[in-house]
Amino acid sequence: MTPPSETTPSEAPHSMTPPEPWKSLYRRYRPQRFGEVRGQDHVTRTLRNEVRDGRVTHAYLFSGPRGTGKTSTARILAKALNCAAPVDGEPDGTCASCVAIAEGSSLDVHELDAASNNGVDAMRDLVSRAALGTPGRWKVYIVDEVHMLSAPASNALLKTLEEPPGHVIFVLATTDPQKVLPTIRSRAQHFEFRLLPTELIAEHLRWVADDAKLDLSPADLDRVARRGHGSARDALSVLDQVAAAGGLEDEAEAADEVIEALCERDAGRALVAIAQRTAAGLDARQVTRDLLERLRQVFLATMARSLVGLPDEELARVEDQARRLGPAAIVRAMEALGDALVAMRDAPDPRVLLEVALVRQCRPDADISPAALLERIERLERGQSGRGATDSGQDEPPGAEPKAARPADRARAALGGVRAAPPTPAKAPDPEPPSTEPPSSTEPPSSTEPQQNNEPPSRAAPAPEPAGSFPTRDELTLAWGDVVLAALPQRAKVRFGGGHFVGVDDTWATFALPNSVHRDRCEECRPDVEQALASHFGRPVPLRLVVIEPGTPPAPDHPSAQPDDEIDLSDLRDAPAAEVASPVDHVMQIFEGAEVVED
Ligand SMILES: [Zn+2]
Repeated sequence: MTPPSETTPSEAPHSMTPPEPWKSLYRRYRPQRFGEVRGQDHVTRTLRNEVRDGRVTHAYLFSGPRGTGKTSTARILAKALNCAAPVDGEPDGTCASCVAIAEGSSLDVHELDAASNNGVDAMRDLVSRAALGTPGRWKVYIVDEVHMLSAPASNALLKTLEEPPGHVIFVLATTDPQKVLPTIRSRAQHFEFRLLPTELIAEHLRWVADDAKLDLSPADLDRVARRGHGSARDALSVLDQVAAAGGLEDEAEAADEVIEALCERDAGRALVAIAQRTAAGLDARQVTRDLLERLRQVFLATMARSLVGLPDEELARVEDQARRLGPAAIVRAMEALGDALVAMRDAPDPRVLLEVALVRQCRPDADISPAALLERIERLERGQSGRGATDSGQDEPPGAEPKAARPADRARAALGGVRAAPPTPAKAPDPEPPSTEPPSSTEPPSSTEPQQNNEPPSRAAPAPEPAGSFPTRDELTLAWGDVVLAALPQRAKVRFGGGHFVGVDDTWATFALPNSVHRDRCEECRPDVEQALASHFGRPVPLRLVVIEPGTPPAPDHPSAQPDDEIDLSDLRDAPAAEVASPVDHVMQIFEGAEVVED
């Protein structure tokens, strides 16, 4: 990583904007002509022709993801219409009108952000101004996020669109065109803005970096382009941060470590990797997004290698991970992280959600969802243990009985049992395979549908295991994120929300907090938390509160999950009784407050 050159961006000469105090790259390099809007040629070509030929309409609907150039294009349209010396439908960029619009001081352009100002008063105000025209000039009204207007405001807008004053153009921008009143949609010419391909963003960034004299490596710029997720604006914002920081952490490398941990089913390793990322100041949401992006590449490697878009060396690595994880695990991980990302929007501590999701991925034995069970079966069928093995049968010792199919059948039978009958609480280890195959073993494990039987799903209250061994850290982390934290009294919930479990021994669970003040405050409500843990686990779980300096990752407290070839059927039978009674209940637990809608 090289630091930015001595010439700061604000000093760099640039043809588009005069030198001035610091301005973000996004604003400095905002497109000023149709020809500068990236990746939306299908829109800008048409608009330019309409301006040139005098065929503009009174209402446009610009839809598309955020950061794809909708409002920039609306302003360019305003410029082109009012420009004193337009060239082939493009504004010249130098006349008084063009300069005023670029500076945001023009009286010909009005913007209303419906996301923050969606009431009828704002719309009436806009409409009344629209009625007062300046002869010979076009007035352009840009309504951003138009789908968020209140119903009365939408109706006020509709009235104006029905009888538009002659010199007025409305540009309605939205990220969600389906939510715009159909009567409004039908009166507007609709243009769809698209996300940009990463390569196009990268090309743009190379140009910007060169022009602004930012000294960044091509690899850094490629990474920034990927972080833009299709939006040139987001990519330029990241570039701003990177220019200020002097480089970019390799998120692929960090995400790679987590995915290695998933391949190895090593929850401790995954948590350490996450701790390092968050200690480096990264938001848990960003970490999750990076992970999802990487998982998507792993997923693509199983389906369409050519779409992965990575250098050969990295591609080989991703393919290897895809083989080791298997499609079911990849999909399950993507779903879990996607769900976590959604839930993070209003979570006090998003990191807990990420940790819970990862521990679940590493411990499908702790997750009794049908998807997790199917994943276990898939792994068994490929004859793959939890660690290392890549191809079916590879780690079978010579001369051993081909037993891969056998545990899979047993697991499948058990899965059928879970679906067909209420869970059996009695633990009955059965090392010998049954002499007669259960009928359900011949059915493919294709269905992840809810229960097929006619009995209503059993709603037995969660029955914690009887006082037994001390819970592992993974179990604590799972229970914490799923149940315990949410059930704490408000004061304890707020205070304990900022910490996490870092280890256990036979008598204590160690819970880490970011500083000693915080720890002392938590100490005051420790009994509340211990009580909640005790009632969940059915045994005392004394807590030891410690302070962990940022940057000190927790050490894994136990090596890793069990390899799958030692699958114990009793797990499959017992887990539902211990955790939840049915897949429906399981979903209800995850989506707190959800209701079952009966057909
Ligand atoms: Zn001009």
